[in-house]
Amino acid sequence: MPICPNCGYDLKEKRQANFTPMIKSLLESRKDSTQRIIKNIINTIKEYHPLKAKDIYFFLDSIRDAEDKIIRYTCNEYYNRGHYQTKGLPYLKAMIMNVDKNKDELRELEKKIHGTKPPYKEVK
Ligand SMILES: [Zn+2]
Repeated sequence: MPICPNCGYDLKEKRQANFTPMIKSLLESRKDSTQRIIKNIINTIKEYHPLKAKDIYFFLDSIRDAEDKIIRYTCNEYYNRGHYQTKGLPYLKAMIMNVDKNKDELRELEKKIHGTKPPYKEVK
């Protein structure tokens, strides 16, 4: 990451980074339904907390590996609980990453219990 997360300076290009096209490309890598919900939640958060393009870019970049359905699920939870009024974007990011992490733990646990292959049928 050649961009400073504090001031948004592009260390490689030696100038302030232009976040608008980078935000656009991160959003467009998502399904339409996910793009819509992310835009809505960002606009809602903006009514309560000042958000810079840099904040939005680093948010989208940090949830880059999260699945669309997990993002949509968590954005709904965040919205329904009214967190946008008090917590802002870093809290939404933490929620998404936490749900995404627990998803892997659940899958691992499931693998340990059931194995990766279907169990053999007992022959009588
Ligand atoms: Zn900096």
